Amino acid sequence: MVNCPYCKELIGTDLDSCPFCYHTFTDRDREKMKEPEIELWNRKQEEVKLAYRQRVMLFIATAIGAGLLYLCFMLLMHFGLDDSVWMYILAVVAVVFIAVQTYLYYKLCRCPHCDRLIYRNGGDYCKWCGKNIR
Ligand SMILES: [Zn+2]
Ligand SMILES: [Zn+2]
Repeated sequence: MVNCPYCKELIGTDLDSCPFCYHTFTDRDREKMKEPEIELWNRKQEEVKLAYRQRVMLFIATAIGAGLLYLCFMLLMHFGLDDSVWMYILAVVAVVFIAVQTYLYYKLCRCPHCDRLIYRNGGDYCKWCGKNIR
């Protein structure tokens, strides 16, 4: 018996596709399926660490970006430019920034085990599947 590299269900060794998730195996999948459990576990740990670093970086980028936007806004107000075209440009930049952050959030802030959204940055365990996420 081996684990399906996609859904991790235990399946027979010589199948062409997974009976659980219906994924058809490629040669690379077969290589993965030959790996001993410990290597799979190490690989998963790497994945978890990388996902955590990406979430932290996204959090920092959000803080810096929001800070810079706020600073620009304050500067425009300070110099009495709050009625100028700069204000519209800043508004567009802010909307794009929020859109990109939201997209990245949906893409990166997922549990590496169950792929569901995790609504918080801290914490050691996924609130959905209870597995380690950092
Ligand atoms: Zn499968
Ligand atoms: Zn999870």
